Amino acid sequence: MQLNYIANENVASASNQTLPVIDPSTGEEFDRLQRSDAADIDAAVRAAQHCLENGWRKLSAVERGRLLYKLSRKVEEHADELALLEQRDCGKPVKQARADALALVRYFEFYAGACDKLHGETIPYQDGYSVFTWREPHGVTGHIVPWNYPMQIFGRSVGGALAAGNVCVVKPSEDACLSLIRVAQLAAEVGFPAGAINLVTGYGHEVGDALARHPGIDHISFTGSPSVGTLIQQVAAERHCPVTLELGGKSPQVIFADADLDAAVPVVINAIVQNAGQTCSAGSRVLIEHGIYESLLDRLGAAFQALQVGPAAMDLDVGPLIRQTQQQRVAQFLADAKAAGIPTVAQGSIVDQAPPTGFYQAPTLLRDVPVDHRLAQEEVFGPVLAAMSFRDEDEAVALANATRFGLVAGVWTQQGARQFRIAKRLQSGQVFINNYGAGGGVELPFGGVKSSGYGREKGFEALYGFTTLKTVAVRHG
Ligand code: NAD
Repeated sequence: MQLNYIANENVASASNQTLPVIDPSTGEEFDRLQRSDAADIDAAVRAAQHCLENGWRKLSAVERGRLLYKLSRKVEEHADELALLEQRDCGKPVKQARADALALVRYFEFYAGACDKLHGETIPYQDGYSVFTWREPHGVTGHIVPWNYPMQIFGRSVGGALAAGNVCVVKPSEDACLSLIRVAQLAAEVGFPAGAINLVTGYGHEVGDALARHPGIDHISFTGSPSVGTLIQQVAAERHCPVTLELGGKSPQVIFADADLDAAVPVVINAIVQNAGQTCSAGSRVLIEHGIYESLLDRLGAAFQALQVGPAAMDLDVGPLIRQTQQQRVAQFLADAKAAGIPTVAQGSIVDQAPPTGFYQAPTLLRDVPVDHRLAQEEVFGPVLAAMSFRDEDEAVALANATRFGLVAGVWTQQGARQFRIAKRLQSGQVFINNYGAGGGVELPFGGVKSSGYGREKGFEALYGFTTLKTVAVRHG
């Protein structure tokens, strides 16, 4: 039985209600979680406030950095254990789960080193004044985390918030809690004081909503779907609570005829099948210059056909989707595409060892997807790639920008001037030229424009979002 983690104690929810934990590889329940409510959030916020006012606020930046560094080492020691938890809980193939645990290590390392480098500025002002700024923590930050990359998103959001001097209340997704409960316990083991990191599990509309509404939460970092992001923004607006929104995407990979296709093909495939396509920054549209459309579709199709899907423990190319409703959602997108006459180029295969009760979906490549079809506009959140062709730069940019999202974009061309021209014109929080994702780089600011959200996490930039700026003007004559 999994418990909440409040003030460095494992505690049951006040209501004593629980939820099932399902293994996506088998569809079977293997554990239970706390189904918490507003009373548990209130206890977590009080614990956080107590921590803040009884030592944490006075802790120096150097000491915070040392704690985070110790946590990074501890997580590294436990990387296999954490990866195994996430493998079972989220259906992640072994390699992916392990990469996520190591990314968590990197986030804590990065933010450990950043703590004592975050400072204000002096501002030249009138004679007789000294003016400067302090970067101060918000206080208690709330973190609402989705199920697709729990460890990575915890690392970037809680790591940044702690580095900036905040204390945290975390609400993981009801579908992905196990690794994060363990990380909160490990933090206590390395010396994080009671109340610095609190974790409360349960449904979003119950405990997530209670967190967003709690008057003791001074900043909300939300990562999840655009529709829930809207709700969070509305709730936060009632008390003018600052919010960072990391939402969805429909990210394009724009491939020109002069691109190095040997380099591009494996990256384009990985960008849509990694984590079974359940990635906010998945490269879910491939826009191909007319002259190479047919030949590149042949190559991509062959690569799709070779992809194997199966249980997480088999560590194949693709694992299961997170839950049955997600599987049904992806199947519905494919049924709609078929009904609209959109041709399928190729599909991967589900191995015989995959239990029929698991949530599997064969990776699918579709071509000639009309720009206004939902497959070209909405986040599928599954291993489904929509291909379209363009004739020139203007059309490529128009297609790339023709969704309500703007999270990540990839551009493949050898022409230097074109690389810059296109990067400037793309509506996107990140642009990658002749690569995609730069290996995840924890140092690289990340976030969206348009309906992909606002505010930035990752990198040093995140620390500005986790602080508020105070201007101090001293008149000394
Ligand atoms: P979701 O919006 O359903 O849930 C996200 C979190 O919000 C969960 O913890 C959930 O319990 C909680 N929640 C749900 N309803 C709530 C409510 N009414 N009030 C408060 N909290 C509530 O998203 P998901 O299905 O878990 O994750 C997939 C989505 O997340 C996709 O849209 C994906 O693109 C997005 N995502 C974005 C990023 C990014 O950095 N931009 C990263 C990962 C995932």
